[in-house]
Amino acid sequence: MICPICENTKIYLKGKDFPGFIENNKFDIFECDKCNTSFIDPTKIDKKVYDIIYNNKKSPGYDRYLNYLERIKKEKNPLKFLANQEPSYFPIYDFIKNIKKELDILEIGCGYGYTSYALSKFKHNITAIDLSKNAIELAKKHFKNIKFLNVDILKIKHQKKYDLIIATELIEHLEDVPSFIKKCSTLLKNKGYIILSTPNKDFWKNKIWQTDLPPVHATWLSKKTFYTLAKNNNLRVKFTSFNQYYGREIDKFLSIFIKTKNPNSILKNNGDPIYINKKSSKILKEILLFFPLRFLLKKIANLIKKEDQILGIILKK
Ligand SMILES: [Zn+2]
Repeated sequence: MICPICENTKIYLKGKDFPGFIENNKFDIFECDKCNTSFIDPTKIDKKVYDIIYNNKKSPGYDRYLNYLERIKKEKNPLKFLANQEPSYFPIYDFIKNIKKELDILEIGCGYGYTSYALSKFKHNITAIDLSKNAIELAKKHFKNIKFLNVDILKIKHQKKYDLIIATELIEHLEDVPSFIKKCSTLLKNKGYIILSTPNKDFWKNKIWQTDLPPVHATWLSKKTFYTLAKNNNLRVKFTSFNQYYGREIDKFLSIFIKTKNPNSILKNNGDPIYINKKSSKILKEILLFFPLRFLLKKIANLIKKEDQILGIILKK
């Protein structure tokens, strides 16, 4: 096997029979130390896992996207709202808030379309695509001023080019990351930007795989991964600073002070969750999220650790 990012042939087996997202599915975790990327064997990526996740309303985590769909239209500044809910939307908010001119934007992996809707409030022209036919149908029903398409980015044939291409929490799900970046680059106008967000491998030391379990996440990416991808595509790369991010998130603080264990499988074969958060820990979390406290905890965490758990990647053509 070779590294799916840089094609290095000297790769290491980091974890044998690591638990998968669905119980009893095991994966070998590999690492390339040349581009600091962790990955599973791309031929082991089975898309059926998404049917199991989305067909069961009790699946933890992914149900929040439906909540955003319901809530987003009630928000005055929906992009600010999303960024406040989750750090993965912050790179887009941080980038776009000072841009005055109208942009042609492409969102890849738009899901239910609420991020595109949030961007449309800034008067940009937006095309949004997703592989899921159901998600696109629901998005079309909710948001009228956006062009939604049920299409694979790698199969897009049209000649239109964009000022900005965005994809939040998408790249880590892909089998072929280099082809994705290459395609994005060809769809970009000269001096255009690509903004991505993904879990940050650099945040963790000595962990085999501290991100959604495989095959949901197929790769675990670092800054070095993106320096490599940028270089191979003649793009420039910068990373979003989360120093001023005070959204509803205390995970950075908790991860510094609470020892994190290796994760266990999330779902049974029928899609039911294996482990449900105890009510008491949910209440404690809500207390810690109370704004002045959350602000303080993030300040402390920033002093102790420079990296954040999310990478915001800005690629420029
Ligand atoms: Zn590599």
